[in-house]
Amino acid sequence: MLCTKEYADIEAKVMNGERLTREDGLRLFACHDIAWLGALADYVRREKCGDIVYYNVNCHVNLTNICTSHCKFCAFGRDKDSKGAYAMTKDKAIALVRDAMRDPHLAGLHVVSGLHPDWSFENYEEILKALHETFPSLYLKGFTGVEIVHFAKISGLSIKDVLLRLQAAGLQAIAGGGAEILSDRIRQQLCPKKATAAEWLEVARTAHSLGIKSNASMLYGHIETVEERVDHLLTLRELQDETGGFQTFICFPFLPKNTELGENITQTSMWDDLRTMAISRLMLDNFRNIKAYWVMLTVPVAQLALGFGANDIDGTIHKETILHDAGATSPTALPEDTIVHIIREAGRIPAASDCNFNIIRNKD
Ligand code: SF4
Repeated sequence: MLCTKEYADIEAKVMNGERLTREDGLRLFACHDIAWLGALADYVRREKCGDIVYYNVNCHVNLTNICTSHCKFCAFGRDKDSKGAYAMTKDKAIALVRDAMRDPHLAGLHVVSGLHPDWSFENYEEILKALHETFPSLYLKGFTGVEIVHFAKISGLSIKDVLLRLQAAGLQAIAGGGAEILSDRIRQQLCPKKATAAEWLEVARTAHSLGIKSNASMLYGHIETVEERVDHLLTLRELQDETGGFQTFICFPFLPKNTELGENITQTSMWDDLRTMAISRLMLDNFRNIKAYWVMLTVPVAQLALGFGANDIDGTIHKETILHDAGATSPTALPEDTIVHIIREAGRIPAASDCNFNIIRNKD
């Protein structure tokens, strides 16, 4: 492999399977050789998980966009009396999924919602249970660590008991959102009303102890420093060392449109998105899967990210709303054939999977 002399020690460490340090991570963020970074991350991806790229044939179900949290980076959450506010009934959620079931390959649901000021925990739980009972063949991934902390607070239950109840209602895996940047400084400034970094991590730790797999993410490109990006990755790596319960890591570039924060922030460049993907693969040496989330990255960048360490490209989605409220320019859904095509064009093997990375159909 080719690199400047300055980075030969990092390249040697990666080739020898040695863990990178915080200092290495900071140096990688200062590296301008994007082709080298990509090649190094692609090498690790190939060694760790081969050429399969996972995707889901799935449907996103966002039960409500009414939310008490008012996170400054969010364009989805709104007050009850705001234009476009909605809250689905159980029947409406079932009707949405029934419509998505017209796709004979639909395999699962991704259920993520706002923190509704009037809904009880039982309200969310009953809808989840109804979806599970009406569509027993569909896997159920849902609720971020932020939602689970909210459920514990409004119900008076412990995080463990909330998780056990959701598991009994059909939940099979936890969504990766809500981690943002796991820094009290950032959370105080951008989302002081929702789960703290410690609470988000506690949900993941508890879920893993119950055998429920979860996912992790990083929302970057707002007010965080490079040091905070690296520390976020190291925090996740540390918990993964402890539990092994994270399945995939998702890089979320901040989309500023229609957010309170947006006016002051320039959207990340493709350069930043690709280097962050590559560095995430290199730093998170105990994560098997790294996701290129096409909704935020755009489809062309997500495809390119498959050469920068990613081995997961999310799913068909059916109808994405959360990020399109923030000006995402990608489509709101992708046909399975398109996903398969972009994976194959990248020289990789598409595999439809469930929410726990079990392969349902291998397209080759
Ligand atoms: S990011 Fe989530 S918790 Fe925050 S305002 Fe948006 S919907 Fe609510």
